[in-house]
Amino acid sequence: MSFEKLNLSAFLLKALKAEGYLHPTPIQEQSIPVILKGRDLLGCAQTGTGKTAAFALPILQLLQPKEEKKSNGRTIGALILTPTRELAIQINDSFTAYGKHAGLKHMVIFGGVSAQAQISGLRAGTDVLIATPGRLLDLMSQKVISLQHIKLFVLDEADRMLDMGFINDVKKVIAKLPAKRQTLFFSATMPPEIASLASTILTDPVRVEV
Ligand code: AMP
Repeated sequence: MSFEKLNLSAFLLKALKAEGYLHPTPIQEQSIPVILKGRDLLGCAQTGTGKTAAFALPILQLLQPKEEKKSNGRTIGALILTPTRELAIQINDSFTAYGKHAGLKHMVIFGGVSAQAQISGLRAGTDVLIATPGRLLDLMSQKVISLQHIKLFVLDEADRMLDMGFINDVKKVIAKLPAKRQTLFFSATMPPEIASLASTILTDPVRVEV
């Protein structure tokens, strides 16, 4: 199997070549076509399986403007919610690598550091936002972030969100998302509370297990 067969655009194939990726991993092979079709996804996969590229590549493709964009500002089209600062930084680095020819902006926010630089970045506008739940809620309450234009929402490591006590924060964020959106839900395990959250926020999802 090759990345070409997954219907990825040339600008992404070029970035993957530069990364030295020869073949998609199983989660990429199964998820990318499903996400490109616009379906919701329930992915049971751990870190290390290539799950970041499995969602980042189709997001970069789906957020490409259909025609010459005349809008005078970027709005957040994709939100990736992840439990830890380390994961958030890794995902942001992946968007830098895969998105170098995408013409989209992405940025990361997390707690434990001053919010000032993050606020300036958000005011300048971004297409993709990678966030941990606490800082996201904080900046939403300060009206620095609006989620009203989100087309794609990724919940990464949902079971760890539960373990770390973030599940209520996650639910508060979800409550502010547009009802009409595509949702990609990733969790290594499916305890009952996570399965129930998945069933309430996903619409007719395709289930992928690796
Ligand atoms: P992840 O599970 O997303 O954290 O990815 C784990 C590691 O695998 C990262 O270092 C990626 O750069 C690498 N990786 C992801 N997809 C591929 C691929 N198709 N071929 C080779 N390496 C990959």
